[in-house]
Amino acid sequence: MRVLVLGGTADARRLAAELGAQGHDVTTSLAGATSAPLLPPGRVRTGGFGGVAGLVAWLRADAPDAVIDATHPFAARMSAHAADACAETGTPLARLSRPGWADRPDSAGWRWVDDHDAAARVAAGLITAPAAPTKLHGSSADLPARRAALRRGGTGRPDGVLLTVGRQSVGPYRDPLADARVYARMTDAPDAPLPPGWTLLTARGPFALDDEVALLGSHRIGVLVTKDSGGDATAAKLDAAAELGIAVVMVRRPPSPKGAAVLADVAAAAAWLSRIRRPGPPDRRP
Ligand code: NAP
Repeated sequence: MRVLVLGGTADARRLAAELGAQGHDVTTSLAGATSAPLLPPGRVRTGGFGGVAGLVAWLRADAPDAVIDATHPFAARMSAHAADACAETGTPLARLSRPGWADRPDSAGWRWVDDHDAAARVAAGLITAPAAPTKLHGSSADLPARRAALRRGGTGRPDGVLLTVGRQSVGPYRDPLADARVYARMTDAPDAPLPPGWTLLTARGPFALDDEVALLGSHRIGVLVTKDSGGDATAAKLDAAAELGIAVVMVRRPPSPKGAAVLADVAAAAAWLSRIRRPGPPDRRP
């Protein structure tokens, strides 16, 4: 079958590889947002389609049997365009969206917010609030290691912010956290320079727990601001924050558009595709 995979994620790369191995004819579409994207196997096209109308035109010209939207859970505009364009062209659509982090046991202690503006306000409030004694959670067996990690950052108040929301979502944090000690970690530098007191950390996951503990401890991070991307590659920062008793501000996912089957992993997406029937030749009986 001919399949258009809307990509930009590791899951999309894995999906393209899996579907290709199963003999499907896969084209992956990338937005062109990252400077050196990891490319999936199979055909790749790059750049926006030009809104819903552009995607409709592309679907009519290329006529894939199905579209699998494997964009990032926060790529809400592309997902909405895919839902509209597939409805208009009658193209079967599924959404591959890995589970978020809300089921983690520590998620009940996070500050959940609906958007980045709210996250910025909450983070600014947390770092300017009167200092509370540092709490170390977890079993007493781990305490020496966790105390050592905190010590690496000295005894000063942990008033730093680690911001891991992606380069395109940094804007709402600039003003509310302009005077804060912010470490902004992202794959590529943002287009506009960061505020003077901020430090840019360019890095691409996966990240290991020991490194995340060292990062949070050595920079005296008091607040981790992130979004509910889900997956394992970037979850170690949450484990590290739990270990060190660091506050977490978590931006909720945007809702998935209606009309698409939502699939949790590559195997489910491949199984969904196998259930789609390729349209047969037109019925010419009188
Ligand atoms: P977005 O806001 O939903 O989409 C903005 C526009 O970018 C879309 O309207 C579309 O342009 C174009 N676009 C997005 N994904 C595309 C794709 N796979 N193929 C072709 N065009 C695409 O998306 P975003 O949040 O900026 O993310 C851009 C890309 O980065 C996505 O592919 C996403 O999977 C990946 N990504 C996003 C995040 C995140 O946190 N948002 C994190 C990691 C990776 P037209 O309207 O012109 O078609």
